[in-house]
Amino acid sequence: MAASVELRKIVKSYGDLEVVHGVDLTIEPGEFVVFVGPSGCGKSTLLRMIAGLEPITGGELLIEGERINEVPAAKRGIAMVFQSYALYPHMSVYQNLAFGLETAKMPKPEIRAKVQKAAQILRIEPLLDRKPKQLSGGQRQRVAIGRAITREPRIFLFDEPLSNLDAELRVQMRVEIAKLHNDLGNTMIYVTHDQVEAMTMADKIVVLSAGNIEQAGAPLDLYNKPANLFVAGFIGSPK
Ligand code: ADP
Ligand code: MG
Repeated sequence: MAASVELRKIVKSYGDLEVVHGVDLTIEPGEFVVFVGPSGCGKSTLLRMIAGLEPITGGELLIEGERINEVPAAKRGIAMVFQSYALYPHMSVYQNLAFGLETAKMPKPEIRAKVQKAAQILRIEPLLDRKPKQLSGGQRQRVAIGRAITREPRIFLFDEPLSNLDAELRVQMRVEIAKLHNDLGNTMIYVTHDQVEAMTMADKIVVLSAGNIEQAGAPLDLYNKPANLFVAGFIGSPK
């Protein structure tokens, strides 16, 4: 079976400044992969390139064995959830969930069914008539995840989705996202700067620093056998 996502010598430059320096990474179908690393190391840039929101400067990006460097975002079968939720403020929760499907000209009853199903999974059915400003941070993030689910993507990308939530809610949402992964079985790539999130959620952790992968592996392998002091420091293991 082809890898779900494969990065081959991926490079990203903004003007003259190279910020991702030839990253190689293979992600298997159904893997929950967590990107960690300090602010500015290129986590969001990598996700945005995979999503098709940012052009790739060099290298090859493959999804399920197919090179997709030039495939537009809408055709990649990838849904991304952002830290800032990115909900439409003037639309109800229902409309936020339905919007992408309406744009794709899906029949109304089918849209309704998909929205109901996503709302049920995220337990936001009682909120469907509200506007985003009438929701708590946790509820907004549930809607954002629900919107990703309605698109039935092959791959989910999460860019620090819990950073705006308080500690208690973060723990709760962590469990819910892990359950979602368990139930749906999709490949998921999750960016965080929170080591606990990485250690508890990941099948595979990818530690990045300044546009390079320092180490990639199972959480316990990184913890027990960090490749260098940077990884040891970041994962929190003694060395
Ligand atoms: P992270 O998500 O790990 O915090 P980013 O991927 O956002 O890091 O950024 C990686 C590097 O690329 C940083 O040095 C950042 O300043 C730079 N960068 C990100 N977006 C842009 C942009 N649109 N234009 C120029 N530089 C950018
Ligand atoms: Mg970022």
